[in-house]
Amino acid sequence: MAYRAISGIGEFGLIDKIAALAEPTLHTVQNLITGIGDDCAVYQPSAGLLQVATTDMLVEQVHFDLLTTPLKLLGSKSISVNVSDICAMNALPRYALISIAVPASFSVEMIEALYEGMAYAATEYGVAIAGGDTSSSRSGLVISVSMIGEVSAEQLTHRSGAKPGELICVSGTLGGSAAGLKLLMREKEIMLEHIENNEPYNKSTMADLKEYSNAFQNHLSPIARLDIVRLLHSKNIRPSSMIDISDGLSSDLQHICRSSNTGALVHEGRIPIHPGTRRIAEELQDDALTWALTGGEDYQLLFTISKKEYEAIADNKDIAVIGETTDKEEGLLLSDIYGMTIDLRTVKGFDHFSS
Ligand SMILES: [Mg+2]
Repeated sequence: MAYRAISGIGEFGLIDKIAALAEPTLHTVQNLITGIGDDCAVYQPSAGLLQVATTDMLVEQVHFDLLTTPLKLLGSKSISVNVSDICAMNALPRYALISIAVPASFSVEMIEALYEGMAYAATEYGVAIAGGDTSSSRSGLVISVSMIGEVSAEQLTHRSGAKPGELICVSGTLGGSAAGLKLLMREKEIMLEHIENNEPYNKSTMADLKEYSNAFQNHLSPIARLDIVRLLHSKNIRPSSMIDISDGLSSDLQHICRSSNTGALVHEGRIPIHPGTRRIAEELQDDALTWALTGGEDYQLLFTISKKEYEAIADNKDIAVIGETTDKEEGLLLSDIYGMTIDLRTVKGFDHFSS
């Protein structure tokens, strides 16, 4: 990769580059009046819709490791995680403001790769990158994305609306992101060992990672489930509660149950484990179900819905019913494939799940 020092083009040169990369995203929305280049971004809110706002910060060495994270994918992920939070409110994403703090070691090309990923993802989701800020950083790279979305009062969905006796649904599959992360950590170890021992680490010495590309993709470049939100809107149904799975099914279901004052019963056999994850877990002597329950960063949608409303989406193969909400007193239970129930909150402590 070519290397041009950022100091060579200066802060204004960098902002011009970022503005040029963000420019195509401005055409994805109609109501943006002023994008990057003035003191504020200006947009006309859509008539009759509520606005939802979220922000998410990604810090080098806390949330990502640049040794195992291509910048383009990091850019797209920083957009996706915010879109995912907007989706969790059953809203549509519209505008993003992006701030970055960049270490002196970064090149112009590295920032370009980061923003190419951001612009690509933003365009895919229909989000305009409308503004932001840049700073230098004395430590690692910091990316902060704020996003604004829109939703009608009728479609707005909180975590708090679940009632006992409703279905608990999850989109897509779980555990794939944790599998990808564990594999990346293994490869990093191998690479560092090679370097330490003065052995070459290149295409001829590294494992064939092609078969894992799906798991890597899940971790490095997750896709927010805007398609599910669009499906719900098109069917004119609203979940009673919803959250995106960023911390893992177990934690995120607890968030819903706590906010809604309900319990839950989840069936192990119905949890959609990402294909390939069981085999990767076996290879790494770990447990795929534990990854699905506690791994996090799958960015699928977890929602509750009345049985009657569910009928409208029952034919969708990408939405799994994993259990039912119960009275609060019944707690959060996981029923295993033999019908034994355990407290979902203590999953990690049980032999069955750590074997
Ligand atoms: Mg969230």
